[in-house]
Amino acid sequence: MKGMDELKLDGNAAAGNLEQIFAFEITTAVGTCANCGASGAVGGAGVYSQAPGIVVRCPACEGVLLRLANDGDSRWWLEMTGVRSLEVRL
Ligand SMILES: [Zn+2]
Repeated sequence: MKGMDELKLDGNAAAGNLEQIFAFEITTAVGTCANCGASGAVGGAGVYSQAPGIVVRCPACEGVLLRLANDGDSRWWLEMTGVRSLEVRL
């Protein structure tokens, strides 16, 4: 049986799949809140863009679903701790 280190790849191994997955209409994707379990289209979530980045909150519990920040140039940071799952229809 292989150990975990032998099975581990770097992020490049998932790049092809992630590029496919993230090339979709995000507003119709259905997210599930990690805090309360509510599910709904991302387009129905609350967005707060007056922060240093963009904060998207659950419409049911106001928990933070995700944060998106940009350095003003070409670098972006996406934090999705508050999203338990994201259902995408390709
Ligand atoms: Zn919630």
